Amino acid sequence: MSNNSEHKAADFIRAIVAEDRASGKHPHPVTRFPPEPNGYLHIGHAKSICLNFGIAEENPGGVCHLRFDDTNPAKEEQEYIDAIQRDVRWLGFDWGDKRFFASDYFEQLYQFAETLIKKGKAYVCSLSAEEVRDYRGTLTRPGRESPFRNRTVEENLDLFRRMRAGEFPDGTHTLRAKIDMASPNLNMRDPTLYRILRTRHHQTGDAWSIYPLYDFTHCLSDALEGITHSLCTLEFEDHRPLYDWVLDLSDPPCHPRQIEFSRLSLEYTVVSKRKLIQLVESGAVTGWDDPRMPTISGLRRRGYTPRGIRDFCRRVGITKAPNNVELALLENCVREDLEQAADRAMAVLDPLKVVIETWPEDQVEELTAPVHPALPERGVRTLPFTREIYIERDDFRLEAPKKFKRLTAGGEVRLRNAYVIRCKEVIRDERGEVVELRCSHDAMTLNAQPEGRKVSGVIHWVSATRHARAEVRLYDKLFTRPDPDDDPEGGSFMNCLNPQSLVVLQDRPVEEGLAAATAERHYQFERVGYFIADHGDSTPGRLVFNRTVTLRDSWAKLQAREQEGEGR
Ligand code: ATP
Ligand code: MG
Repeated sequence: MSNNSEHKAADFIRAIVAEDRASGKHPHPVTRFPPEPNGYLHIGHAKSICLNFGIAEENPGGVCHLRFDDTNPAKEEQEYIDAIQRDVRWLGFDWGDKRFFASDYFEQLYQFAETLIKKGKAYVCSLSAEEVRDYRGTLTRPGRESPFRNRTVEENLDLFRRMRAGEFPDGTHTLRAKIDMASPNLNMRDPTLYRILRTRHHQTGDAWSIYPLYDFTHCLSDALEGITHSLCTLEFEDHRPLYDWVLDLSDPPCHPRQIEFSRLSLEYTVVSKRKLIQLVESGAVTGWDDPRMPTISGLRRRGYTPRGIRDFCRRVGITKAPNNVELALLENCVREDLEQAADRAMAVLDPLKVVIETWPEDQVEELTAPVHPALPERGVRTLPFTREIYIERDDFRLEAPKKFKRLTAGGEVRLRNAYVIRCKEVIRDERGEVVELRCSHDAMTLNAQPEGRKVSGVIHWVSATRHARAEVRLYDKLFTRPDPDDDPEGGSFMNCLNPQSLVVLQDRPVEEGLAAATAERHYQFERVGYFIADHGDSTPGRLVFNRTVTLRDSWAKLQAREQEGEGR
């Protein structure tokens, strides 16, 4: 989609970009996605990625940088940098040669800081962190000026250079902007620009004993890279005056415009790296890429697709309004993509044995079925039909409700892609539980309706003697409450973990051809749901399928039960 002035822009930010193009102010927008490499990317980041890379793609000559905001070496790791790059690429975006690190600019930032000192706009403060907090005041109480605020330029320069040289222990001094301790905006009350942190940095090694803070770094990095539109989430709105203050005084090559939009939050989900780390470290999930995690790598392992996620971000849109989105929207976007993308297969998750007495003992008929019913070009698959098969326990009822269109004692049903069978006898164990059905088949019904009667129910099946076996992992919501942070007792989101979020079914019969399933291949198990071969654990010798999503959401499924028979 192009965004020239004749078309209505999709959102207010794209409208600004289009306006700036039309006026010639910024003929080629330059945006950036600036993750801090202190955790894995999550679905909230996907919104920002789709916005920033999307604008670059939609506008001729547009560019989007990937910039690591790496100002806190204590929390950052190479593992996160690698994961972030992998995830952005997997989502389908490309930064070309525009990959940067804020740490690339440490020397320039340092020089800007000296410039501020020389202009009398920054000073070395020797209050402790606790004192700084106390002096800052509150929303209702103005701050107090630091006793070090009026150090001379010479003294400040000397101390700042010695901070850089590593002469002082961590926490003994900071460099602060000299703005206004009475400002109603707390961010303007002499914010800290540099702190002493004698920690090794993943990019710069031991070169630095001081590190710039986010607010100072971010605006200058944007400016040094020639970013035209610096798009960020709403919590940075109150930081914008500081962003502009630094840029006005530092006289960098350009002055990007910061524009804020609302964060994405999702029902039954937490999207904050701090909380995601807690889930990983507590062992509540198996790792950052656990299929229950809202991380990009977790969604990927769950079987969500880049196209589904991008479509979701497009539908969510960009506004300033709070953005708490229903999980069903994301699931639907994924379902819609998988409907086309996924091959069809059959799997029986809760097997009940059926013996077809009219079928000869050793006879195997190779039936064929389409790989995708609507896309003949995807070809056919082979299904061995044998005397003993499995059907889903739930597809048989001794006492069936009136509209039950599956198998009943004495009743008929069509086996998907195969014959119509009739249940002749029900075998039960001593506790009365059904353990086997004895059936007959109607040889005239392969891909044809039986003569003189209508059989509308269709159920899936797998040969009991010719199949593969798989572990099937059924995933559900990680939390029991739509807003996991809203604990009635005021407790943590960790209190509402869903104990049913993972159910593992071992050793289930699946269609024989699935033995060749390669990792990350998507399937629709007919009538059951969408699944993906797990890329961590599934191998040709040990199949593991993760349930991505059910065929319909649960409400729709109940309805569908009523009108069963159309079998997707
Ligand atoms: P978190 O709170 O999860 O730690 P963050 O904002 O600190 O997130 P960053 O790595 O700094 O994480 O984020 C990189 C970019 O992604 C920022 O521009 C940020 O505004 C954006 N972003 C982060 N979370 C969301 C979200 N939930 N919705 C939209 N954009 C987000
Ligand atoms: Mg951040």
